[in-house]
Amino acid sequence: MNRVCPICSCIEKRKLYTQDFHNNVISLIKNYDVVVCKNCGFVYADNIPSQADFNDYYRVMSKYEFNHNNGIVSSDYIEHFTKIVNFLIPHVPDTHARILDVGCSTGALLSIFKLHGYSNLSGIDPSASCVRTAKKIYGIEATVNAISDFSTDEKFDLIILSAIVEHLADFSSAMRKIRSLLKDQGLLFVEVPDAERFEAYTSAPFQQFSIEHINYFSQYSMRNLLSSFSFKVLEMQQGESKLNLITDPDILVVSAKTEEKNYALIKDDVSELTVGNYIAKCSKIDLEIRKSIQEKLLNKNKIIVWGVGTHTQRLIGSGLDLSKIAYFVDSNKRYVGKELHGITIKSPGNIQEKDIPILISTYSYQEEIARQIKDVLKLNNEIITLY
Ligand SMILES: [Zn+2]
Repeated sequence: MNRVCPICSCIEKRKLYTQDFHNNVISLIKNYDVVVCKNCGFVYADNIPSQADFNDYYRVMSKYEFNHNNGIVSSDYIEHFTKIVNFLIPHVPDTHARILDVGCSTGALLSIFKLHGYSNLSGIDPSASCVRTAKKIYGIEATVNAISDFSTDEKFDLIILSAIVEHLADFSSAMRKIRSLLKDQGLLFVEVPDAERFEAYTSAPFQQFSIEHINYFSQYSMRNLLSSFSFKVLEMQQGESKLNLITDPDILVVSAKTEEKNYALIKDDVSELTVGNYIAKCSKIDLEIRKSIQEKLLNKNKIIVWGVGTHTQRLIGSGLDLSKIAYFVDSNKRYVGKELHGITIKSPGNIQEKDIPILISTYSYQEEIARQIKDVLKLNNEIITLY
């Protein structure tokens, strides 16, 4: 799908980078372009699948069910959600306020509002399993819905979009829907990754350009997004989210629905520069990794590659020799049994061969997986790491 600028509808854009996933089995598409809008300066992914394709993908591939722990989120999520709730409470002091969490996952964020005495809480999520868990663990009322399909007679005082907007291929219809669900002067909370600070938080190269993250906001483009749908910014904060061992820069913003139509866009002059710096830094790291892989695999005939996510998909384009891969391993059950470039993906429990080295293909989980191989699976295979 060729996109017009999701904020200002301008069709003119400049390409900054092509992100290549080298497959469309695990990833939804082979590649996309990272472009900047020539009019408003917003940076976004272009030539991507339709919103309907993404909805299908999230229904099937949801990584947000926390199945491994009966749906209970880890303490880092609780800390993160507590930070969000503390940010919001001064804006929504009434504990009877009607609050809707869009993409509520297993309801953990709403459960923190509940702890503070809030009683009108509801959520929607595309995953049926998440919705069941929200009810079971936290007693949170949620329904299985994408925002586009959701309808209700209720009007809300606060709608929460935490880690949602960066995933949306079509956010103008989502924003129109949200406006219609809010009371007059109702509040919209948005949390997104902060593209202005990608460079300072670089982990594995180009990790920010995943198949799931297709909009890259700075505080300026976030302001433009909200303005263009007649929301007035009340408070904006640049912070960080520490989830699943990954620290990323984020933006928290709370805004109010208004009827004013004449907000002027202020061109975002920052995003092109800062995302450009991130791309330059990643290109440099990518070169180092190419060299490192060649050296480390020089004397290996066969290897097992642990992980088939964005990191591995990118490595395949950065000198990872497919002919040396005996098979892939991934703990995500949805990948197991599939093939990537004709090579089988097995579950970690199915590693039989003791003499084939295991290449751990991740930045953030490198130590955790090494420990799992040695201490949990009790395997003595040689372990190859890249970082
Ligand atoms: Zn634009």
